[in-house]
Amino acid sequence: MIVEKFPSEFLRAKSVLGSLEQAGFEAYFVGGCVRDLLLSKPIHDVDIATSAYPAEVKKIFRRTVDVGIEHGTVLVLQRGGSYEVTTFRTEGKYQNYRRPESVSFVRSLEGDLQRRDFTINALAMNRIGEITDLFAGQGDLEKKLLRAVGEACERFNEDALRMMRAFRFVSQLGFAIEEETYQAIVSQISLLEEISTERIQVEFLGMMVGEFRNKGLKAFIETDAFLYVPVLSEDHRDALLKLLELPDELIYTRSQVWALIAYFLKFSKEEFKHFLREWKESRTNSKEAQLVLKCLKKREKGFWTKEELYHTGLTYALLTEELLQLIFRRGEAQRVKEEFAQLAIKSRSEIVVRGGDLQRELKRSPGEWLGDMLFKIESAIVNGDLLNDYSAIIDFLTQLEGEL
Ligand code: ATP
Ligand code: MG
Repeated sequence: MIVEKFPSEFLRAKSVLGSLEQAGFEAYFVGGCVRDLLLSKPIHDVDIATSAYPAEVKKIFRRTVDVGIEHGTVLVLQRGGSYEVTTFRTEGKYQNYRRPESVSFVRSLEGDLQRRDFTINALAMNRIGEITDLFAGQGDLEKKLLRAVGEACERFNEDALRMMRAFRFVSQLGFAIEEETYQAIVSQISLLEEISTERIQVEFLGMMVGEFRNKGLKAFIETDAFLYVPVLSEDHRDALLKLLELPDELIYTRSQVWALIAYFLKFSKEEFKHFLREWKESRTNSKEAQLVLKCLKKREKGFWTKEELYHTGLTYALLTEELLQLIFRRGEAQRVKEEFAQLAIKSRSEIVVRGGDLQRELKRSPGEWLGDMLFKIESAIVNGDLLNDYSAIIDFLTQLEGEL
């Protein structure tokens, strides 16, 4: 097969292949970008594989960055973009069901394609659009099948993460897992235990934000994969199965993913914190996830008050509405946008009176009273009980002072 019309991402990268070829090396587009091109899907990054060794690649291009030179990857910077150029490689001996630390460079494309995970990811395309397809990946693209390259059991034994990747690709592409590959996953799934949480997390989140989430998640549950990832156990099976009843509507952020899981698994605050820690989630991301869950639970009971909307902010309020829509079909994104737009202020910095003004007007030295008072002023303005106007605020103050 020859691809005749190159999307712009490839056109810009063609000169990189050209330079490598001119220097006497082989060079191809490989992996996800070729797959997505043949599926007419948007291209994320264009990866290039070459017979040139990293030192040779660096001699050919003026601007390069060593991003993973021990794995054979050099980033080539061009005016139109930057491209990862990786030397053809095999992965040598696998240890403990994980990808090896060291790789061996090879001079043939075939060796490189053999080490790839699935047939649809093992396609290469040269500068003139000719496809190299050693494992019938194009047929599998047509049949919408995810099939391991070579002997499936062996491949999952080499690197157990590939099983999580399978669920992620199912969810992104809506493909089915080919029978032998599926059976291999079922038999090898406990090896997931050997994989670092960080790598599992990436694929799990990828699976949860895919267009065909339910398909990926169904395989994740039915193969018992969930038993070998942090925290989840047999006790959670029914709650996880309930997630499959949700419509296949996109979830966009990791905070939504975690909040959704916590909601369905009925985590307490402490349990959720523990879960996020075990999944090696960063402090910032954990905070965001906990906020979304809190909002979701509050919002379940009724619409936002002005103050809730103000303190939560539009971004998180909208994330919450998306979850509400997904779970209960009653998200009110438009109303939230309108009500947020109508808030008298969007942040404390918009209040026309500052701390210094308060001290001067009330002739008082700074102290705790200042924060309290600003907070009261802020609430009153947000609730529409006070105009954000200098003299109105000062009047309100004198009244307040009388009460304090
Ligand atoms: P995406 O578009 O989501 O990035 P991708 O196919 O490009 O998908 P990457 O994780 O970026 O996925 O990997 C690039 C390529 O490297 C894959 O297409 C596959 O050929 C190969 N690959 C990545 N991880 C593995 C692995 N664990 N085992 C074997 N091959 C892998
Ligand atoms: Mg990629």
